[in-house]
Amino acid sequence: MDTTRTTEGDAARHAGLDPSLVPASQFLEGRSALVTGAASGIGRACAVALADAGAFVYVVDLAKEAAERVAGEIGGSPCVADLSDPTAIDGLPTTIDIVVNNAGLQHIAPLHEFPPDRFALIQKIMVEAPFHIIRRALPYMYARGWGRIVNLSSVHGLRASAFKGAYVTAKHAMEGLSKVAALEGAPHGVTSNCVNPGYVRTPLVEAQVAGQARSHGIAESEVLEKIMLERSAIKRLIEPEEVASAVLWLCSESAGFVTGASLPLDGGWTAH
Ligand code: NAD
Repeated sequence: MDTTRTTEGDAARHAGLDPSLVPASQFLEGRSALVTGAASGIGRACAVALADAGAFVYVVDLAKEAAERVAGEIGGSPCVADLSDPTAIDGLPTTIDIVVNNAGLQHIAPLHEFPPDRFALIQKIMVEAPFHIIRRALPYMYARGWGRIVNLSSVHGLRASAFKGAYVTAKHAMEGLSKVAALEGAPHGVTSNCVNPGYVRTPLVEAQVAGQARSHGIAESEVLEKIMLERSAIKRLIEPEEVASAVLWLCSESAGFVTGASLPLDGGWTAH
């Protein structure tokens, strides 16, 4: 029996479509998705993957031009919002079947020198905004009996590193939020999961590699192997598209029993 076809048929029926008209690759046809931080890096890759699978994607980002460009590329809708501002979040759409909480930022400093306003900002964008977005999206998902929440956590949601106090705190909090959403959403057909990448090849990380190479006076390949990938068994960066394909799988019917989970994409980092 072709179970893939059957479950995709179920998704199409939920979305009010005739399953025989939906190609297997378009299994999110009729679904809408909201991806935060979708103008760049991993968020952009997720937006592209979801749109390729047939979803209509709301591209949420602070960066107006880039959000408009990505939305234009994928036939989605740009939503310019500063996620540190709850009133801006109140203006985002709520008729969404899929939420990808992805927007994030980093600040590196030892705890005793960590600027409190940076710490607070990181919690606002990476913990409070996902809470507000999930809280606003759930009633629609519950009414439809189907929903997918995917939270872009990190290996730093499962392990700590020195000098990343705000980021590690926020990602661990996101893990807790994701699990509570999983428990509450289960009776309503809503799953909630985290993905936990190691270092991903995004402009942010490439700039960090170049900066560390300059400051340590070593080659970029050495920065990768000896500093950033020291704890990864696989000595390469993961590509944004590889993260997006895991996110897409979590949005599929095949992953319908996966909830409250944290999926390491860390080259073996957390195997230690
Ligand atoms: P990125 O910097 O390339 O993209 C982040 C996006 O978020 C940007 O488009 C930015 O404009 C947007 N953003 C930042 N602050 C915002 C705000 N206040 N309101 C709205 N949008 C805002 O980052 P990335 O590397 O693609 O990371 C995306 C997510 O993946 C983050 O949550 C990050 O913690 C996580 N992650 C990244 C890596 C990595 O190595 N890059 C590893 C693990 C987890």
